[in-house]
Amino acid sequence: MEIKFNVRVKPIGMMSIGSIYPIFLGPDLPFTKKFFLKNGKKIIKYYIPGSSFKGALRSSCCRIAESFNFKSCGEIDIERIEEAHRRIGDLCDVCKLFGYPKSNASGIIKVSDLESQSNVNVQTIASIRIDDKSGKVAEGALFTSEKVYNTEFIGEISLSTNDVDLIGLTLLSIAELRLDRFGRRSIIDIMIEDNGRLESVIKNTKWMTLLTELRRWLYYEIL
Ligand SMILES: [Zn+2]
Repeated sequence: MEIKFNVRVKPIGMMSIGSIYPIFLGPDLPFTKKFFLKNGKKIIKYYIPGSSFKGALRSSCCRIAESFNFKSCGEIDIERIEEAHRRIGDLCDVCKLFGYPKSNASGIIKVSDLESQSNVNVQTIASIRIDDKSGKVAEGALFTSEKVYNTEFIGEISLSTNDVDLIGLTLLSIAELRLDRFGRRSIIDIMIEDNGRLESVIKNTKWMTLLTELRRWLYYEIL
């Protein structure tokens, strides 16, 4: 069974997501965007790559899984992942949900790109990079990054499972992510739009309260 629902994301304050494609004569760290032609006009669409969102969701999941009695191997290295799974006697719940590198198990969660709705407010801002070790400004560390604000992105999550607890673990990870840092030190709020689809599967479970909570913004105003 495949359950699909939308996630709506808005930055609290300003958000930057680094693009892997360098653009000459532009900011050092441009926000990710797609270009396409519409009636001969070039259209720019700002977006959050699905892979970035999924990666951030996985990190959130690792952090909270054990506090809610889910199994997490907590490993990144492939050999140690497999060793931990052998100890558990199964894939851990985090890897069941997200898959893990080099395995045939691709996970049950898919995340589409999250695309900007309406106009995007963009500003290029100069920042300095602080050296993690010394706590001082790193040499030659002035860079510019493109930040967006007052905008919303929408994408789709699909879960190919009817295991209510794995759906619950997904909701917990989303709830954790909206209190955490995303991308380059950005804070985001997340809201779920499920048209009753999630509700029909989890309505008589303990996860329903969390879904109700996630159907509205956590932050109602821009800080
Ligand atoms: Zn694992």
